[in-house]
Amino acid sequence: MPSAAGPRFDRLVAWLRRETGIKFKVRTVVDLGDKDYACWGTGDEISAREGWLIKIERDTSYPIQMDALLHEVAHIQDIVKNGYLKDVDSQHTDGFGVEYAALLRAYARWEKTYDGPE
Ligand SMILES: [Zn+2]
Repeated sequence: MPSAAGPRFDRLVAWLRRETGIKFKVRTVVDLGDKDYACWGTGDEISAREGWLIKIERDTSYPIQMDALLHEVAHIQDIVKNGYLKDVDSQHTDGFGVEYAALLRAYARWEKTYDGPE
């Protein structure tokens, strides 16, 4: 059964797990809270065993949810490779930029294969 975000989003989640090897759960939530973040998503480590929990704003379009999910996974890749920075305002590091760019390139190649429903 597809999630509230729809089958295209669910397909993206499955691809991201295969592509990155990162263990994560995704929840779409009605209100993430502080809109000043303007990221449409958050990512937090639950535990080494359970992996990460990514929250994505529910009341947005697929392109925004897709971008927010790629953004949060790139943060996790940066943290896993380069370590966690406690100051939230400084999380968009060079390491994040490298991970995000690589993920976007991989996504662009993979997304061309999609011909299913929204
Ligand atoms: Zn961010």
